[in-house]
Amino acid sequence: MPITPAPESSPFLLPAEFRAAVAQHAQPLAPAAPPPGPLRRSRRAAPLARESARRAARADRLLIADDADGPPPRHVRPRRIARGGVVLLLAVGGALLLGSTAAVTALVSGGGADAAADAQLFSDAPPPVAALPVPVMKQAQVSADICGVPEVMTALEAHDDAAAVTAAGGAEAFRLAVAEGRARCVDLADPTRVWAVINKARPYSPVDYRPTGLVMPDGVRSIEGGALRSDAASALTALVTAAREAGVGEIALESGFRSYQTQEGSYGRQVAQRGQEGADLVSARPGFSEHQSGLAADVVACAGECGSLDDLAASAQGAWIVDHAWEHGWIVRYSEGSTDVTGYSPEPWHLRYIGAELARTYHDGGWTSLEEFFGLEPAPGYVG
Ligand SMILES: [Zn+2]
Repeated sequence: MPITPAPESSPFLLPAEFRAAVAQHAQPLAPAAPPPGPLRRSRRAAPLARESARRAARADRLLIADDADGPPPRHVRPRRIARGGVVLLLAVGGALLLGSTAAVTALVSGGGADAAADAQLFSDAPPPVAALPVPVMKQAQVSADICGVPEVMTALEAHDDAAAVTAAGGAEAFRLAVAEGRARCVDLADPTRVWAVINKARPYSPVDYRPTGLVMPDGVRSIEGGALRSDAASALTALVTAAREAGVGEIALESGFRSYQTQEGSYGRQVAQRGQEGADLVSARPGFSEHQSGLAADVVACAGECGSLDDLAASAQGAWIVDHAWEHGWIVRYSEGSTDVTGYSPEPWHLRYIGAELARTYHDGGWTSLEEFFGLEPAPGYVG
């Protein structure tokens, strides 16, 4: 196999240099053997003083060079070549003839003993690059504001809430971004969005907000004739149909949208019956009810006759809703144990539409309030 000259940057001996070294060390019995030093320089037969200075300078360079990105510095030891004499050099030559630079390196550097010496030489050097901290690119990516994603902005402008959630990386990514303050373009106070959060600390603005596109859900018995926003109406039809097909019975809509004026009347009646404190636990003040958004539905179970709101929880339909409402974009908004956060006693009948993807994430994450879901402060009572 022909010997290929090593490139200039190779850490290994050049063949020409090797031949020069062989020529020099072929007289191992000469009375004044060259002092220890780098092999490449030893062939110049430099005076002892200059050689010592070079070695000191070289040691400094080695310590500095170890930080650089280039190939490791050479540290072939001519002393070993001088001791080993011709036999070793012949072995090196044989290895070169075999074309194995690795073999040459192993022979010349002498393996274990000199490797230990090398370790000593570099003991003050910084740790290998592999041990340095690796920048966490993923973290940087996750911390980006989702409003920097053009598709999110396009979907928001088109009022396509589902597409915005998808463009943000899915419902969990969307939720996290909102909760961590990385969604400046997502307004939880905007009642036209499926992710709107209305509670005792977050009234509508304007307070008499009224949604557009209210319709009656197809194929759903309506007790009070309440309408829903069209997306919520379709989703309620899907929920009621699925329950019927699952054999759990009929679910009817007790009430849906309530205008600001309607709330004034109903809240006033509750206050008359229970006093303000009692009324606040069961009825929203005007301008604070989820029903005003057209995204909330109070449902009841029917078997011929329909039961009351309070009857739902103990019914087959009530149990089915707990397990399956999320599959159609609905959540039970006021759940057991969350009164301190939502400000309302549990209402198993009060469903809130938040869209299929967000509802799935809400269910999968075991969330029990929209406030906690989006990282908002609890709203146990009215402010002021
Ligand atoms: Zn309700």
